[in-house]
Amino acid sequence: MKLILLGPPGAGKGTQSKRLEEALGIIQLSTGDMLRGEVASGSENGKKAKEVMDAGGLVSDEVIIEMISDRIDHDDCKAGFILDGFPRTVPQAEALDSMLSEKSLRIDDVITIEVDKEAMVRRITGRYTCSACGAGYHEDFQKPASAGVCDKCGGTDFSRRADDNEETVRNRLTAYEELTAPIINYYDDAGVLKRVDGMAEINQVTASLKEIIG
Ligand code: ADP
Ligand code: AMP
Repeated sequence: MKLILLGPPGAGKGTQSKRLEEALGIIQLSTGDMLRGEVASGSENGKKAKEVMDAGGLVSDEVIIEMISDRIDHDDCKAGFILDGFPRTVPQAEALDSMLSEKSLRIDDVITIEVDKEAMVRRITGRYTCSACGAGYHEDFQKPASAGVCDKCGGTDFSRRADDNEETVRNRLTAYEELTAPIINYYDDAGVLKRVDGMAEINQVTASLKEIIG
């Protein structure tokens, strides 16, 4: 099973990818996570990416396309994958199409998670993760069962992303509107786009996704 999850920052792509990973035995390929890994490692790509990410812009198509093309070749992608945060521009979507045909792979479903504009900033500025296991939470919408303790691993240290502040979020939403939203039409025009209501409760969104995936 190979999926593309589309949607603006804060739509719930990461949250739902993690749930589908567990349910379907496939892996999440988040270009944002990969880039944060590059930044943490201090690599050349990481150094260049950090400045762009901190400003809320998009990293160059060339870097991203090479990164994802290499990643898809790894053995852990054989059972399937969920693309989260990629493609993010029309050139990336076009490059993905040629990459997949070269590798004789095909995407089963392209699904966009739709959310109201007003919800996005609150979703992003309230987001935090467990530093030990990476489980995602939200100050209002997804609290741990016991305050300050991770449901998954019992960790008590949590962190926030450097770019999840209100100013950067506004730039990220502008980048989404200008550069990423057009790929919704790209897949819609190709007749392969499916939509889920991302304003519904988290469990309900998971159920809608599972219904589409079958
Ligand atoms: P994305 O990966 O699309 O940027 P996330 O999955 O990280 O978005 O979700 C952003 C924040 O919103 C997280 O803190 C998450 O807990 C919360 N969230 C995700 N889906 C929902 C939902 N359906 N309703 C309310 N909050 C949600
Ligand atoms: P995300 O974790 O998906 O919210 O991505 C965080 C940041 O990483 C974005 O704001 C971009 O700067 C960068 N990024 C992630 N994925 C891509 C991509 N496919 N193309 C360009 N930049 C990306």
